Amino acid sequence: MGELILQHKEELAMAETLDTGKPLWLSTNVDIPRAAGSYQFFANLISTMGTEAYPMEVGALNYVVRRPIGVVGLINPWNLPLLLLSAKLAPCLAMGNAVVLKPAEWTPLTATLLAGILQEAGIPDGVVNVVHGFGPGSAGEAIARHPGIGAVAFTGETTTGKHIMQAAAGNLKKLSFELGGKNPNIIFADSNLEEVVDTTIRSSFINQGEVCLCGSRVYVEKPVYEQFLEKFTAKTREQRVGDPLEPKTQIGALISRQHLERVEGYVQLARREGGAILTGGGRPSSATRGFFLEPTVITGVNRECRIVREEVFGPVVTVESFASEEEVIERANDTHYGLSASLWTNDARRAFRVAEQIEAGLTWVNTWFLRDPRTPYGGMKESGIGRQGGLFGIDFYSEQSTICLKF
Ligand code: NDP
Repeated sequence: MGELILQHKEELAMAETLDTGKPLWLSTNVDIPRAAGSYQFFANLISTMGTEAYPMEVGALNYVVRRPIGVVGLINPWNLPLLLLSAKLAPCLAMGNAVVLKPAEWTPLTATLLAGILQEAGIPDGVVNVVHGFGPGSAGEAIARHPGIGAVAFTGETTTGKHIMQAAAGNLKKLSFELGGKNPNIIFADSNLEEVVDTTIRSSFINQGEVCLCGSRVYVEKPVYEQFLEKFTAKTREQRVGDPLEPKTQIGALISRQHLERVEGYVQLARREGGAILTGGGRPSSATRGFFLEPTVITGVNRECRIVREEVFGPVVTVESFASEEEVIERANDTHYGLSASLWTNDARRAFRVAEQIEAGLTWVNTWFLRDPRTPYGGMKESGIGRQGGLFGIDFYSEQSTICLKF
């Protein structure tokens, strides 16, 4: 599967870009290779994986076998379509399950192409079923409700997760949820500001800010607040927004008119809440068609504001200053989300201390978006249930059965 996806890389990358509006270089260099990597990673993992076995003094052996669940439902969002679908499908197939998978209706192309690649790879008919249709009251809900489906892995909004949980209660399906985030990006005064600014541009605006792991709440320690803001705003203004097929484009189009209007609505709300728009906030003058929004930096808001509390999922960040470590930890954790966080410092003791207090499934220190695929991935609080990644993914997509054998 991995090899075939790479062989079809150009076609898949173009389909992903046409569907989502993300820059073609991003689909080509990140989305599609990472999707292929999931199949290669889990194929390697299961070929080296062992099991647990415990001999008992009474003369018995307890050992654990893994079995497939049976049929698993996979429900996917539109922001990283093939990448997130593959992160679920690879461990799911590795554990021997059959699959009903639904892409988001905004982005059905790469899942459809994948169905052809599955056939080319020799996966028997009926093992993976790609089903199109909307979520509520249609294909998504049917997957969540169906009594023949034993587990559902879902990535999407927290509110959708709550609906799926209710619908899945009928036969007590196993659930894995990767949900929304409102991730803090904490910058201490002792960090290397050039490096911080470059990475913060990426962590704020890559994929038009439509990545659940984007850091949308930036907190900067007071002594460097003005300096950071000046450099960050200047660099944000340099970002090229426009045609996703143009190699120099850094920020493409948002997924839909509806989503663009929603994100713009948040910018207007921030203004009403007393915020100052330092740069961006509008549609670029160069783009006469398409759902483009300039990258936007907002200051003058506080934790009571909806722009600071709710997930915007666009190229929009708020920047606030902080005075002490205790204060910023408390503000970073003051959210019902708990997906990821970044912190920047050259003080190793502080790095350990703060990282362990942040309520997030994944915390980066002096970096962003880097993760060993063997480590768990998922959110705390209302950002998710369970973990994917390495053996954690294997656990979700299999049933473990203990066999006790008396000698
Ligand atoms: P949605 O929750 O709106 O949709 C996700 C998927 O669920 C789509 O396929 C959708 O179908 C389907 N769906 C919607 N309602 C139901 C329902 N009642 N029952 C079953 N299925 C349903 O999310 P978006 O597609 O808007 O994606 C953006 C969200 O995803 C953001 O909140 C983001 O944070 C989150 N996300 C989380 C990630 C993580 O790993 N934690 C990673 C990436 C995104 P359709 O749209 O076709 O109607």
